[in-house]
Amino acid sequence: MNLSGRRESQNVEDRRGGSTGTKVGLGCGGIIIILIIALLTGNNPMELLQRMSNQQQQTQTESTHVSTPEEDSLVVFTKKILAATEDIWTQEFKKIGKTYQPPKLVLFTNSVQSGCGNATSSVGPFYCSADQTVYIDLSFFMTMKEQIGADGDFAYAYVIAHEIGHHVQNLLGTLSAAHNKMAQVSKTESNKISVCIELQADYLAGVWAHHDHSRFSSLEEGDIEEGITTASKIGDDYLQKKAYGRTMPESFNHGTSEQRIRWLKKGLQSGDIYGGDTFSVGYSNL
Ligand SMILES: [Zn+2]
Repeated sequence: MNLSGRRESQNVEDRRGGSTGTKVGLGCGGIIIILIIALLTGNNPMELLQRMSNQQQQTQTESTHVSTPEEDSLVVFTKKILAATEDIWTQEFKKIGKTYQPPKLVLFTNSVQSGCGNATSSVGPFYCSADQTVYIDLSFFMTMKEQIGADGDFAYAYVIAHEIGHHVQNLLGTLSAAHNKMAQVSKTESNKISVCIELQADYLAGVWAHHDHSRFSSLEEGDIEEGITTASKIGDDYLQKKAYGRTMPESFNHGTSEQRIRWLKKGLQSGDIYGGDTFSVGYSNL
């Protein structure tokens, strides 16, 4: 990506080095980390999650964080991508007669107190609608690179833009409607709604990139491929096959690799905020 001359967002709160609390459920990226580690070590993912959480609680005395130059540049990158989403979504909301309220983004290490409870890094990047905040431990990007080979600036931008996509869903009312429905149905049905939410966030990440590129010429050769490679490696089927040697479609909650690629591409091509209605196309047509 070409981000030279782009502004950095003021809505980033740096809480690296401070850590409190205990684990909560898995966020968007958490399943990836747990499955990767389970795959590599042959452990039960749930036992692993518990152990990681215990370890993290034991190391919580750490109070200062020393940032490496690589991490420093990831902080600048994250602030620029966040600013880019603010600029583009402000513009796109205006087009539909609405006002975009930018979310906050909190950088943390090990664990964090969010409006949705305490969370450890093992949950991966996540969006909390209660405090309209995205939480990221930058070590997730290293995990993406080293463990699943999803590397490159646009791969990272896609992850951030996906979380911002959840904020857009929240502002448009789709997120709370979906969560309400999820609370009333079986686990299998709830997973299907989750897939619709996640694929729509992928779509909205694509919509953002579409407009960012048309306004700032930010995408360079190979960027779209980086996004597609990432989408292909974080599909439920791909991760389950790697971890367990088989897929369990009833437990899919983020969508298959093929679906994630399709919705990301769809957003990239159309740039239409309303063009990604994953909820009404029917689960088998996603
Ligand atoms: Zn998500």
